[in-house]
Amino acid sequence: MPTAELKPWSRQALMTREQALALDAADPLAPLREQFHLPRGDGLIYLDGNSLGLLPRATAARLQQVVVDEWGEGLIGSWNSAGWMAMPTRIGDKIAALLGAGPGELVVADSTSVNLFKLLSAALAIQRQDAPARRVVVSERSNFPTDLYIAQSLCREQGCSLKLVDSPGQIAEALGADTAVLMLTQVNYRSGRLHDMASLNAAAHAAGALTLWDLAHSAGALPVSLNADGADFAVGCGYKFLNGGPGAPAFAWVRPALIDRCVQPLSGWLGHAAPFDFATEYRPATGITRMICGTPPVLALAALECGVDSLLAAEPLGGIAALRAKSLALTRLLITRVAERCAGHGLLLASPDADAQRGSQVSLVFDPTSEACGAAYAVVQALIERGVVGDFRAGSPVGSLAGSLVGSADDRADILRFGVAPLYTRFVDVWDAVEQLAAVLAHGEWRQARHSLRAGVT
Ligand SMILES: *Cc1c(COP(=O)(O)O)cnc(C)c1O
Repeated sequence: MPTAELKPWSRQALMTREQALALDAADPLAPLREQFHLPRGDGLIYLDGNSLGLLPRATAARLQQVVVDEWGEGLIGSWNSAGWMAMPTRIGDKIAALLGAGPGELVVADSTSVNLFKLLSAALAIQRQDAPARRVVVSERSNFPTDLYIAQSLCREQGCSLKLVDSPGQIAEALGADTAVLMLTQVNYRSGRLHDMASLNAAAHAAGALTLWDLAHSAGALPVSLNADGADFAVGCGYKFLNGGPGAPAFAWVRPALIDRCVQPLSGWLGHAAPFDFATEYRPATGITRMICGTPPVLALAALECGVDSLLAAEPLGGIAALRAKSLALTRLLITRVAERCAGHGLLLASPDADAQRGSQVSLVFDPTSEACGAAYAVVQALIERGVVGDFRAGSPVGSLAGSLVGSADDRADILRFGVAPLYTRFVDVWDAVEQLAAVLAHGEWRQARHSLRAGVT
């Protein structure tokens, strides 16, 4: 997160709380919020749906049905009669519809990390065949750690190398005759910066490279056009904006023209062309189902389907494009209100100010001269005590990563992160959250010792 990205506050016409309430009253998407269980009624402002989405009301009843009827009564027959075996592709088709992909192109399986491993391995294998001199994976130093860890391990195993750039502007020039794969997360988990997928796919292809996108913070939050924008591979997460529940299965997509060339490195039986032949030799299924490894996690898939359905419910109301427009209005309001109400506390905007470059979150950092610099964690804890849930992301400690991967100075800034989920976040939630943040800062509440006690999961 280079300092150059810390944008000055944008000033916009100021609003009143009544106007925020009026925006909610006039919002055609507002009824979608009723699909969710809201802890403490409206007493909790949840700005962390980018980390774990809310629980859809439908989920508990659906899980009860799967457990009691399909498992309890149907037992093993439910693999056929309840459609269990088709869940990875059935739910995959629903997610594909949110991402500009077609039916049969996307499958739900495993975790994002494991899917990254499978797809990056497949992409490297294609390049090894077509262009053996291409042995470099290009990514960003600020990418989510699991993405970098998976790439490090595959590169080590396959004698490739990982080239990390420090800013989005360096990506195009890092692509060359040695590049096998450009592996990027579309929305940066720290800054919320959004990449233009179409232009980066074009740049990668012009250089002869394949592209692999992590859509963890894109799926369910903003429109993605995998096919139209020319992507090659994509993975993403089920428990963030897709509301699939803690540890929900993830997804994998491959451009249809490439899938039959993909070698699945985790060649489990359920990616086999005919698993119930119990043949000795592995023979991959045609199409995306070859990306499945083992038995589908039926309970987790049932919960994920409820989460995905909560997004599909927006279709008659303008779908993902309407959700994106609301998300931008919400993040704009948050940015404007923080500038207005938190002035003088040294908060800087760590997310892009330009709408076209901002995902569905707003990240803030404290200026090094601010009294609260180094206390981002305590500020977030004090806010949680006031009923506003955002989260904290630590900067990279120097020396925590080996060799060339030591974080740049600017990655060391701790951030406060506020995700807005346009399915259920209201304008008045954003308004009230900023009032609480202003109060935490004005009263120095973060100085109280209990707010600095670190929990295992931040
Ligand atoms: C949340 C997230 C993941 C999570 O990976 P898991 O394997 O589900 O733990 C991966 N990549 C990015 C960019 C993320 O934001």
